[in-house]
Amino acid sequence: MKVYAAPADALEDAMRLSAAMTRKLAVAGLPFGGGKAVLAVPSIPSGERRRALLLRYAELVASLGGRYRTSSDINTNEADMDVIGERTEYVFGRSLKAGGSGNPAAPTALGVFHGIGASLEYAFGSSELGGRSVLVQGTGGVGSALAEHLAAAGAALSIADIDSERAREVAARVGAKVIEATEIFDVECDVYAPCAVGGVLTSDTVERLRCRVVAGSANNQLAQPDAADRLRARGILYAPDYVINGGGAIALVGLEQLGWSPAELDEALVRIGVTLCEIYERADQEQISTAAASDELADQRLHVGS
Ligand code: NAD
Repeated sequence: MKVYAAPADALEDAMRLSAAMTRKLAVAGLPFGGGKAVLAVPSIPSGERRRALLLRYAELVASLGGRYRTSSDINTNEADMDVIGERTEYVFGRSLKAGGSGNPAAPTALGVFHGIGASLEYAFGSSELGGRSVLVQGTGGVGSALAEHLAAAGAALSIADIDSERAREVAARVGAKVIEATEIFDVECDVYAPCAVGGVLTSDTVERLRCRVVAGSANNQLAQPDAADRLRARGILYAPDYVINGGGAIALVGLEQLGWSPAELDEALVRIGVTLCEIYERADQEQISTAAASDELADQRLHVGS
């Protein structure tokens, strides 16, 4: 759910997000296509207006008879999925009480954590986090859970959030240093983990980065397609967003549709790191960006599945 300047922008966003969802499920080896719906609103509604919109949307999803299943993303949450669940069974991420598997931020964060380990292994020859510095941008559902995993593994952490109170609270909990949100791109670190908004990798910001690895949960991190080539030219290893942030979608589909056990989910989250290494090797062999290599892998898996 989002406010867009024009309906065409919402359509473009929906198409981009749908394409990423298709590739996300393909690289994860899940036997489904991907899709995404966008609720374009003049302002984010609350109360009865929000409920009425969600129920109307639920009826649309129900009318598709299971060909499309919806879930939460920006500006929607577990409680909203419960409302949608009043009119259709084709909704992932309802609360545990309503029969769903809850908020996917925790498995997303764990998948990113495994992805960071694999990226360090590829870049430095060891996945060891002790002695490595990681900068986490955004301390919401995913960023704060990721910061906890990283701190427990011994990383030296810096965090930033436009909500400075939230940043201070998470920093105190995990023992991190707080950075101003505007200084993100100038901080020297081993890993920059974007876990806030998309579009952070522009030609300008890529030139400023002082890290060896970019690996975080944010969707659509590349503001321009050629940012991936610039990262490669600068020797910065980029973990393609839809690969490293697939843990939430994998958990929802695995637990709610495929009947996985928690152990099967854990294995699938570890595989995110394995897939990233496959992508890094392919990128090096073919002298292409990691983004191009992951698109190739996704297309290959889609082709095999068709
Ligand atoms: P969230 O809304 O819980 O947290 C986002 C945080 O980022 C907030 O604390 C916000 O204040 C902060 N923020 C916003 N703009 C910022 C900026 N410019 N600089 C620093 N901080 C900023 O969101 P989330 O669920 O943690 O998701 C984070 C990102 O990961 C989003 O891009 C989301 O689309 C993506 N993602 C999330 C999931 C999931 O399971 N939640 C799955 C895949 C991808």
